[in-house]
Amino acid sequence: MTQIHTDRFEFVCPERGEAFEVDGEMRRALLASGCPVCGAPVSETAFVSLSSP
Ligand SMILES: [Zn+2]
Repeated sequence: MTQIHTDRFEFVCPERGEAFEVDGEMRRALLASGCPVCGAPVSETAFVSLSSP
């Protein structure tokens, strides 16, 4: 499988403010499971698209 393009997002935790870059698949996982660092619930507003350079 070849991924030509992967969406990139910056995730900012709504609870503690830790931030890191994720791809679309990771974004869905965070929305489903919450923040992997502190366990806070994650909504779509916690993500900023990095699609533009
Ligand atoms: Zn967190």
